[in-house]
Amino acid sequence: MIRGLILLIVLLFTFVQAEAFEIILPAEKKSIVNTQYAFFVGRATGNETISINDENVYIAPNGAFAHTIKLKDGENRVLIRSQYGRQFYKLYKNKLISQQEFPAEELEIFKAVVNCDNTPLRETPVDGGLNRVGHLFAGTELLINGSKNGFYRVFLSENKIAWVAKKDVTVCENSVLNPAEFVDMKTERFKNASIQTIEFTKKLPYTIEDNEKEIILRVYNPELSPDSVYNLNIPKPKKYTYKLTIDGGKYTLKVRKLPEDIRELTIAIDAGHGGSERGAIGCLGDEEKVINLNIAQRLAEILRKAGANVVMTRECDAFVSLDDRVKFAKENDADIFVSVHLNSIGDVPMDVHKTRGTSVYYFNANSQGLAQAVNKYVVKHAKTRNDGVKTASFAVIRPSDYIGILVETAYMTNPLDSVLYTSDDFLQKAAEGIAEGILEYIHK
Ligand SMILES: [Zn+2]
Repeated sequence: MIRGLILLIVLLFTFVQAEAFEIILPAEKKSIVNTQYAFFVGRATGNETISINDENVYIAPNGAFAHTIKLKDGENRVLIRSQYGRQFYKLYKNKLISQQEFPAEELEIFKAVVNCDNTPLRETPVDGGLNRVGHLFAGTELLINGSKNGFYRVFLSENKIAWVAKKDVTVCENSVLNPAEFVDMKTERFKNASIQTIEFTKKLPYTIEDNEKEIILRVYNPELSPDSVYNLNIPKPKKYTYKLTIDGGKYTLKVRKLPEDIRELTIAIDAGHGGSERGAIGCLGDEEKVINLNIAQRLAEILRKAGANVVMTRECDAFVSLDDRVKFAKENDADIFVSVHLNSIGDVPMDVHKTRGTSVYYFNANSQGLAQAVNKYVVKHAKTRNDGVKTASFAVIRPSDYIGILVETAYMTNPLDSVLYTSDDFLQKAAEGIAEGILEYIHK
């Protein structure tokens, strides 16, 4: 009788354990984190009520839940429990050392040469954000007169300085001034493009500005004099892409009008992440890379049916580097580049429950209109919350050679969004929304 009772208790205990919640993130029970916040996402089964450090957690109809906790310095003990089980986490947070703001160090002027093509020239000595004013080509000589935060201050003209990362240049052994000579300047206009060239006897630093009316290429020749600047002002159509190439000291800027007929368009569709890079993880343990590809394939089908030439940066679960995605799109002369993702909140002070819905990112001014149209139609069709149109410096949408956007269809870390993105209907509606946004944009 007693043995029977023990067996019953053991069975009951096993049964109850099997019904308890599962924590998907954090992946480790003990870890060192250097962020202000940690977030927990997971899956509840049955009709559990879950608390994390005694705060009740909202559970979506599909069992998904998420919760953010603020971390203090040192050890943080986190207890997650329901009537069916409990789990214990220890997160250790190092004390954050605040970044002090120092003025730039003034240096005696010297020359340095750019190591690689596509080296960012920045408005501020900060690695990131929207502060790029141009991309330098390998072999360009720069005049340096200051230093800050791992950057050199570049003297471009008496009115213009910029910053380049120290690791991206090599200091020249001698700094004898060797100014470039102007050779030639030419403008050609075609039906759907205009091409301007300006040529010097050597490579020079430049900045590019895309303002409301025109694109301005400024080439600086500071070794000649502090006011030696050459401006090319190129008017632009309403929808356009532009591309700067260089051959020796010859700069060619091509501004192209975007075709208005879908059958003349090449659209690159980029399913985010893939292979070893799984992307964000949802409350239920879903992998972002899988959902991205699913939406991307549906989008490709809709756009092909509409007559577009569609190319995909990946068509299976494979790792593709960001550089290769960009290279692929450029090689295929893509007019439009659409990167498909799902979002997640990082370890930042955002409310995991309020942060949900669709956001669309762009980098260059020429991509804002498409971002707006796609955001509008994904929200409309997939019935997501509108998380807005935003700018961000993501590598795949930085080139101005195409109209580039990155769509975050929903938040993987939001329990209510997880109800949406795990349904086939949502994946189809998200794809239809992106497609309708593209079609409206090119026809309007
Ligand atoms: Zn992603």
